[in-house]
Amino acid sequence: MQNDRSCISERYLWHEEVNKYLAGLAQSYGNKIEIFSRAISYEGREIQTVRISPDIQRKREKRLCVLIDAGIHAREWITVSVALYVIQQLVERDAINSRLLRNFDWIILPLLNPDGYEYSREHNKMWRKTRRPLGANRCVGVDCNRNFNVSWGIGTSRFCSLLYRGERPFSEQETQNLRNIFQRLRPNCRFYLSLHSYAKAILYPRAYSRTLPHNWKHQHDVAQAGADAIFRMCGLKYRCGSASSFLKISVGGSSIDYAHDIEKVPFALVMEIASKGFHPAEQNIARICEESWTGIKAMVMQLAVSPIVSFTRSKTAC
Ligand SMILES: [Zn+2]
Repeated sequence: MQNDRSCISERYLWHEEVNKYLAGLAQSYGNKIEIFSRAISYEGREIQTVRISPDIQRKREKRLCVLIDAGIHAREWITVSVALYVIQQLVERDAINSRLLRNFDWIILPLLNPDGYEYSREHNKMWRKTRRPLGANRCVGVDCNRNFNVSWGIGTSRFCSLLYRGERPFSEQETQNLRNIFQRLRPNCRFYLSLHSYAKAILYPRAYSRTLPHNWKHQHDVAQAGADAIFRMCGLKYRCGSASSFLKISVGGSSIDYAHDIEKVPFALVMEIASKGFHPAEQNIARICEESWTGIKAMVMQLAVSPIVSFTRSKTAC
């Protein structure tokens, strides 16, 4: 199995390779990256989340942090590649990217839904959900991004459909894992970014309602900073707005609304990565990763100057 470091932006990695890549980085760069948490998917795959920090050993000094996840929707393969690319840039090119680590630790969960991802890679490219069987009538899987306990059930879908919300909030081990990470980060998480594809947009809460959060202008500024940076780099025009206005419907149970309304994370965005369909050709992975990274860097730099992000050191755990 090929596992050299350059391959992450040359081809789509399997779940096992993702974990090997993270373990390799943690071994080679133990002062910059650690495995922050391990959880288990419904089918028994280990879901790893990493923490990247300029001095990983100084755990007593808890810092503000950025949380990024990818692969919540199984078929959105490119999001996993982008998350791994972000990890690689922060760890292996930390001198160039040091200003991004100055104010924040980065917590990154590159493959939230590994069962769905593997199923999508092997059996059904368009698979979106988890892989937990539901009852006796061959229905399988829940849409993780409808499964959080925030206005759960609004605008979401009937049993068995592509957008099925689950029997109850947090019915899935995969969404429980993200909830546990948020709870562990309290109250230091300042920016949550969930990577999706491929609508070429950067969206902020709320998805369940047209009512905007009180700080929506600041969130819009962060989204716009990302969109502007990508436009300057390559001419791609990302749209920015609230999720419900973009989707033209209201949907409950999304991870950004959960992050913002329940976990009180001030900035909670979805980046719908621009790509040609859910499975861009592998020769385009590197380019898409670079474009996305340009936007992510700009958003975090904008965040650092936002008036509602405080850099007062907190004593609680990150
Ligand atoms: Zn998605």
